Amino acid sequence: MTTLPLGETTPFSDSPKEECGLMGVYAPGKDVAQMCLFGLLSLQHRGQEAAGISVSTGKQIDYEKGTGMISNVFANERLSNLKGINALGHTRYSTTGGTSTRNIQPYVIETAHGPLALAHNGNITNADKLRDELLAKGVGLTSFSDSEVLLMMIAGAKGNTWAERIKNTMPKWEGAFSLVFQSRTGLYAVRDPWGFRPLSIGYFPDWGYAVASETCALNTLGCIKIREVLPGEIVVMNYEGVNKAPGMKAKKKTAFCTFEHVYFSRADSEWDGQSINSVRERMGAELAREAPVEADLVIAVPSSAIPAAIGYAKESRIVYSSGLTKNNYVGRTFIQPTDELRQLGIRLKFNALPYNLEGERVILVDDSIVRGNTSKALVKLIRDSGAKEVHVRVSSPPIISPCFMGVDMGTYDELIAHRLEVDEIRQYIGADSLHYITLDGMMKAINSKTTYCNACFTRDYPIDVQAFSSSKFKSQS
Ligand code: AMP
Repeated sequence: MTTLPLGETTPFSDSPKEECGLMGVYAPGKDVAQMCLFGLLSLQHRGQEAAGISVSTGKQIDYEKGTGMISNVFANERLSNLKGINALGHTRYSTTGGTSTRNIQPYVIETAHGPLALAHNGNITNADKLRDELLAKGVGLTSFSDSEVLLMMIAGAKGNTWAERIKNTMPKWEGAFSLVFQSRTGLYAVRDPWGFRPLSIGYFPDWGYAVASETCALNTLGCIKIREVLPGEIVVMNYEGVNKAPGMKAKKKTAFCTFEHVYFSRADSEWDGQSINSVRERMGAELAREAPVEADLVIAVPSSAIPAAIGYAKESRIVYSSGLTKNNYVGRTFIQPTDELRQLGIRLKFNALPYNLEGERVILVDDSIVRGNTSKALVKLIRDSGAKEVHVRVSSPPIISPCFMGVDMGTYDELIAHRLEVDEIRQYIGADSLHYITLDGMMKAINSKTTYCNACFTRDYPIDVQAFSSSKFKSQS
């Protein structure tokens, strides 16, 4: 476990990190590109900057990619050129930097063993070193992406099959990697031995298989027998069926990402075998037990905090009501590069319902406070709408350190809880009271035997991120 020295900033002040969504479909005879698109649309919340789909005809891999929301990228019959037996899709999240089209995944290359494509979710923390090794061997790269490094390493790896090449290379990778490789004939789902990021597979009731970052995408496609790819596992999907190939042993201490429960995953997904919605409701209930307050109504910051607010309301027996509406057609405020623009973005995104709020003592539940911009703007909005008191309750602990494993949280300096004590944050956001759930309370709500990564709340990193903090790498996954 590594702890970064206090005060150290990440290299991402102008190029923060990303979460991403992966979707793969193996179903010869069906419109795999269209199915992949439908699945990918359920993963839009994991990335809104760019998207791509590649399809193998059995001989070659063709692809279409573009910037923007998935529906924009694949408007105008753009998929009609993509016909084949398997498809791989990726949707990418980016914040302030790295909009270059060359970073859009899947990456597709030609190798000595045929075409190969890759879609990646996570961050490789030793990518700098691996990249230098490739360059020293004369391997050319088109970007600073860690995902491209993974692909090039597999292309040149020892082994008779793709599964063997992946197995032989995987131990060299440190960090978070949920991956789907696409070859001419099949898909290879791979999860790092810590299990940082989610990845699940499912079967179509008639014939064929799918793999996705979140189970909600598999449900959308009507998959059955859905299961998570285990930490360290390689799952091959091809004409022989769905088969486990030798991969890596899972780490004794896994590092599943708590933030998938808190915020990132969609409420109708499962993570670590648990319903995200139920976990969030339990977090809200736990928060109500830990930090009760007399009030007239409980409202949520829509939409990720709705289950936690419902949990809080049920437990406290205070009415749950709508106090805010969200415009779902405005992108994440995180995408704005300056605080000023971000705050403006928050006003574009949320509006208040004054008829519900006037004269009321309001409990505002959010799932997380990162920079503090959202809470500050919303507390003001709620007060301006006539609320008598605004009490903020947060269903995750204070975020004190950045994520090096793939969730955008900004730098140390940007994290408000890194700079300020809870009461100072309360003053900054203008709330009458502010309480965060405790780490123990959150883990009690998650209620799992699995070991989680809580580095963003504790500064205890499950892997050595020291080298990464001086890396020139910009993860694109
Ligand atoms: P902030 O305004 O920086 O405090 O952001 C907190 C809000 O952003 C909360 O309402 C969260 O639901 C949401 N949020 C938390 N983590 C992320 C993230 N990694 N990317 C985008 N939004 C986030």
